[in-house]
Amino acid sequence: MKKHTYLLSILLLITSVLFAQKVNKEDSIQLKKIYTASLLDGKSYDWLDHLSNKIGGRLSGSVNAEKAVKYTQAELEKLGLDKVWLQPVMVPKWVRGLKEYSFMETGPGITSIMDICALGGSVATPNAGLKAEVIEVKGLEELATLGREKIEGKIVFYNRPMQADLIQTFEAYGGCVDQRYSGAAEAAKYGAVGIVVRSMNLRQDDFPHTGAMSYGDLPENQRIPACAISTNGADKLSNTLRLIPDLKFYFKQNCKVFPDVESYNVIGEITGSKYPNKFMIVGGHLDSWDLGDGSHDDGAGVVQSMDVLRLLKETGYKPEHSIRVVLFMNEENGLRGGREYATQANLKKENHVFALESDSGGFTPRGFSFDCDDANFAQVQSWEALFKPYLIHYFEKGGSGADIGPLKKEGMVLAGLRPDSQRYFDYHHAENDTFEAVNKRELELGAATMTSLIYLMDKYGIKNSTAQVKN
Ligand SMILES: [Zn+2]
Repeated sequence: MKKHTYLLSILLLITSVLFAQKVNKEDSIQLKKIYTASLLDGKSYDWLDHLSNKIGGRLSGSVNAEKAVKYTQAELEKLGLDKVWLQPVMVPKWVRGLKEYSFMETGPGITSIMDICALGGSVATPNAGLKAEVIEVKGLEELATLGREKIEGKIVFYNRPMQADLIQTFEAYGGCVDQRYSGAAEAAKYGAVGIVVRSMNLRQDDFPHTGAMSYGDLPENQRIPACAISTNGADKLSNTLRLIPDLKFYFKQNCKVFPDVESYNVIGEITGSKYPNKFMIVGGHLDSWDLGDGSHDDGAGVVQSMDVLRLLKETGYKPEHSIRVVLFMNEENGLRGGREYATQANLKKENHVFALESDSGGFTPRGFSFDCDDANFAQVQSWEALFKPYLIHYFEKGGSGADIGPLKKEGMVLAGLRPDSQRYFDYHHAENDTFEAVNKRELELGAATMTSLIYLMDKYGIKNSTAQVKN
């Protein structure tokens, strides 16, 4: 290398380092502003208080879900955004009905009460309830090896626990949830009369956890009732079965499916100053299960997403791209809101370049999971140092969120907030998912972390993407 070329490269290096430092300084000041505003003057916790305590569980098609639509629309209108509107979407309506009842009968007249709840989408038991012998399996594969001879006329008890040594609890959930989702459809094929599924919970307690299930293409007259049992209940049933294999399990539930009803996604927008036709969205899902208040799932994600737009305004940041908050309806038992949002975006040829979802609970944020190409991931990794003071360190490639999934296209960046997940399944889809389970500071740190990522994405844009070129 010639001397002057050498000097020139040194000079270039110094300039780029100085530039990087300048950029980082400006950004670290903006992040500090965002975290300060969220922790000293956040709105997310008050909004969650209202959603949880004044409204409560928000199952799709319920009166509460409609109340939540009206409330969040009104609150977004107070923020002085450029636009707030409702996007209609047809959603399923499943109603739990009377509280479920269950017992285990170990001898004539000898019964003990069990903690169960109907799975979302399940059919009812006969009016007088359903009583039958039980066959325990560890999953769908074991079910298939038993065959009709051992299953016909019985209640299948799916008892594979979440794998406790997995640090990512969502992985443990993913390893079990097929029992809940497809257990009834599979068991019905072998002549089972009902199913009971161990709750997707890593803790030992008495709360049954509901969740979506599907009969697939099973004809209506072959559908069998499905319920979840608490982890304590599952262990008790399993231990007793070992001593008394012919014990009987009784359960009664009168849930029902009604015709679809109209509901809405709630949307607010700050229109971009430079790229009004390029959209970056942040969201969570407004519906929840009905047993608790849906405070972690996904009230937290809803109020954090709302606060992202408020915090951008409050810290005086004017985005170049159009930033939308989208509160999706019906993630839990249909994903209709997420699908409808993507359908409308395609019809209107809206160019979505970035989407961020918070749907993993309102716990201490650790970072984000990114679904994107290498160039964009490299850019994201270059921001890691900015987040370090806030103990945000997890930047990994992976999934994003269910509601934003349908938007996915080449060149786009999708991301999911990743909070600490160790306690999430203590509450997930259960009666104890209430306001008290959410910590104010943890919730606000999450809102600030999301706002910071939106700020950086808006400022630096999407790298080498077809989405960017297309506009
Ligand atoms: Zn959720």
